[in-house]
Amino acid sequence: MRPGFDLEGKRVMVVGLARTGLASALFSAAYGAHVTATDDRTEAELSESAMRLRDAGVALELGGIREASVLAQDLIVVSPGVPANIPALAAARKKEIPVWSEIELAWRYLRGKLVAITGSNGKTTTTSLVAHILRTSTIPAHVGGNIGTPLLSFVERSSDTDVTVAEVSSFQLETIDAFRPEIGVLLNLTPDHLDRHTTFEEYAAAKMRMFANQLERDWAVLNADDPEVTKRTPAKSKLCWFSRQKRVAVGAFLLNDSIMFRNEGFEVELAKRSQIPLRGEHNLENVLAACAASYLAGATPAAIAEGVKTFQAVEHRLEFVAEIAGVEFFNDSKATNVDAAAKAIEAFPSGLRVILGGKDKGAPYTPLVPLLKERARQILLIGAAAPKIADDLAELGMAMPIERADTLERAIHLAYRSAEAGDTVLLAPACSSFDQFENYEHRGQTFKQIVQHLAEESQAGATASAAPQPEKG
Ligand code: ADP
Repeated sequence: MRPGFDLEGKRVMVVGLARTGLASALFSAAYGAHVTATDDRTEAELSESAMRLRDAGVALELGGIREASVLAQDLIVVSPGVPANIPALAAARKKEIPVWSEIELAWRYLRGKLVAITGSNGKTTTTSLVAHILRTSTIPAHVGGNIGTPLLSFVERSSDTDVTVAEVSSFQLETIDAFRPEIGVLLNLTPDHLDRHTTFEEYAAAKMRMFANQLERDWAVLNADDPEVTKRTPAKSKLCWFSRQKRVAVGAFLLNDSIMFRNEGFEVELAKRSQIPLRGEHNLENVLAACAASYLAGATPAAIAEGVKTFQAVEHRLEFVAEIAGVEFFNDSKATNVDAAAKAIEAFPSGLRVILGGKDKGAPYTPLVPLLKERARQILLIGAAAPKIADDLAELGMAMPIERADTLERAIHLAYRSAEAGDTVLLAPACSSFDQFENYEHRGQTFKQIVQHLAEESQAGATASAAPQPEKG
C-alpha cells in the first residue's frame, strides 16, 4: 500500500512555476489545499500561468522565495529546475516540513504499476521505447515525468491495471520521500550536471535514491557493463541486469542476433538485434534495458519484438535530418554532456565533421580525443565553451582542422563546404545550449532548419545548372 497524502486543508507551497510546478499547484488546489506558489519571475513574466493559478485560488508570491512563508507551510513541492539546497528549503527541512518533488506527490495518488527510468543518458529514448512496447502488448501505459508531461496529470485517469512509465532525473530523486517504483531502471552513471551536484558521488547518490524505498519484491534493472553502476547495487531489490557483453544470471543479454531474457535458468528470446532501427551501441543498451523492463512489466515476447522493430528515434537523439550531395546530417542536439557526445560519435565509423560546443557543464572534453582521432575529419566549435574545448582537444590539431565557427549556422556551412560525399555532419555538442539557444530542442530545430535550407539551395543550384543556359552574346 502506498502511504497516500491528504491535501485537504493543508498549506502547500509550490516552488518554481514551470510546467511541473504549475501542475503541482493546480493539482494541490483542486484537492483542497491552501496553495501558495512562488517563482523568481514576476507576474508579467509568468503571464498566462499566473492567471490560471489565480483563477484556481492559488496565492502568488513572485519575484523570489520568502523564508517566512516557507516556514508556515505543511508541505513544500519543489520543481526540478530549483536547486533543492537553497537556504529557504534547507530551513524548511530543519523545521521538518517535508520538501517533495512532484513525482513524490504524484506517486502517492497514482494507481497501477510504476516503471521509473533514470541514468545519465538514454532516459527519454528508453522511456519512450518501454511505453511503445507496453502499448504494442495492449497494456495501457502513461508516459511522463522528466520527458514532458507531469505525472500528476495521469492521476485522474490511472487505474490499477495501468502502467505509468516515468523518466526521472537526479534532481527529482533528490527530493523524494517514500517514492517507490515497482520497476526501477538505472541506465548508466557518467559525470553530468556537475554544475549543480557538487561531486560525482553526490550525483550518483541522488540517482541511487530510485531504489531506496524498494521492497524485496520490486525490481532494479541495472547496467551490468557500467562499473559505476555495478559497484553501487541496491540492497533490498530483486536485481535484473542487462548487458551487451555477457550472459547475465537474471536479465537481458545478447546471444548472436537474439536479445534474450534469463530468469531462474529459463531463457526466452525477446527481440532481434538486427531489427533495432536505432544507430549506435548506446542505443543497443537502451533497447536491452527497455526489453527487460517491459518484460518484467508484463509485455509478451512477441510484442517486445514487434515494439523494438517499429520504434522510431526520438527527435534530437541521433535523428537523421537530410542527405545533401552524398553528405549526411544528423541531429543529436540532446547530447548535452561529454558521454552522450562520445556515444553519438561512436555510432559512426569514419568521415565525421563534428559540431561541438555551447554552455560548458564542468566535465573535461579530453575523453573525446581518441574517438575523434579515429572517426573525425574536422571539428567545428560553437558557443561559450569553445576556448575550453579547443584547449582540451589541442592535440587533435595535428590530425585535423579545429575551427572556431562561433555560430551553428557558420559551423554547418564550414562543414558542408569541406565535406566529401560519404561524410557525415554531426551535431553532438557535449554542452548545454543556454548560451545561444532557449534549450536543446531549439538548438536541434535550428540545426534542422539550416540543413533544410541548405538542401533547398543545393536542389535549386542543381536544377539551375541542369537547366539549359541562355545563349551568350
Ligand atoms: P536523456 O533523457 O537521459 O537525456 P536521451 O534518450 O534523450 O537521454 O538521449 C540523450 C543523449 O544521450 C542522446 O543525444 C544520445 O546520443 C545519448 N545517449 C542515448 N542513450 C545513451 C546511452 N545509453 N549511453 C550514453 N549515451 C546515450
